[in-house]
Amino acid sequence: MTASKKDFAKIYDMFSASIAKKLDCGKICAPLNDGIPVCCSTENAIPIVENEEWDLLKSRTDLWQPFKAYDKASKKIVKELPDTTCAVECKGAAFCERDNRSLACRAFPFFPYFTKDGELIGLACYWGFEDRCWVISNIQVAEKKFVNEMIAAYEFLFDKDEEQYEAYYDESAAMRRVFSKRNEPIQLVGRDMEYLMVLPKSGGRVIPTKASAFRPTGPFVSDKAYRKAIKEAGGSPKGHHLPN
Ligand code: SF4
Ligand code: SF4
Repeated sequence: MTASKKDFAKIYDMFSASIAKKLDCGKICAPLNDGIPVCCSTENAIPIVENEEWDLLKSRTDLWQPFKAYDKASKKIVKELPDTTCAVECKGAAFCERDNRSLACRAFPFFPYFTKDGELIGLACYWGFEDRCWVISNIQVAEKKFVNEMIAAYEFLFDKDEEQYEAYYDESAAMRRVFSKRNEPIQLVGRDMEYLMVLPKSGGRVIPTKASAFRPTGPFVSDKAYRKAIKEAGGSPKGHHLPN
């Protein structure tokens, strides 16, 4: 069974909160990405939606269109997509319509984290973006409203579509493998706003922690590293600082 167009409309109603009300994190990562928020450029991430979600988006707005592959790698991604999904792209960050963001836009950089036993205990981040996404280095900025809405929306989705549950279960397992190899803990925002760590090489053992134990990474460890990364990305670091 899959979620219907109507189900996705309900999911959009259930999940509209920003990660943090007063936060415009796009301003922090954009200098690293030619001035465009990292998660809003198809060069970084091609948005993939279920066909039913695409039906909904088409019926609500002309913000989105089918993604046009521009190189060998993107052609391969599109070719290998299952028939139940499609690759799309929006008109760009300057034209964003909050109410017509895809589910993936609303959730990024978080995804629902499942334990080995299949319990959804909180939100983890797509670690592949940790060198560009400031939120991944600062997950404690996620507010209760965002966390509650995201968990509720995804639980509704998982009730409708078992494959979605399986996909995130697998993503969580993949993250445990990667972080065990790196010998680093996975940082989580728990579903009840508690902070958690999944210990590496522990079979997925979860322990409570404090936000102060979370460590930033990559260009977000210091102002110096941030400005260096902006320069390396071809931008001007002048006037750019990490938030305090
Ligand atoms: S979520 Fe991450 S990648 Fe997206 S705008 Fe915020 S900092 Fe940038
Ligand atoms: S719809 Fe908005 S949030 Fe989503 S990719 Fe486009 S500009 Fe970014």
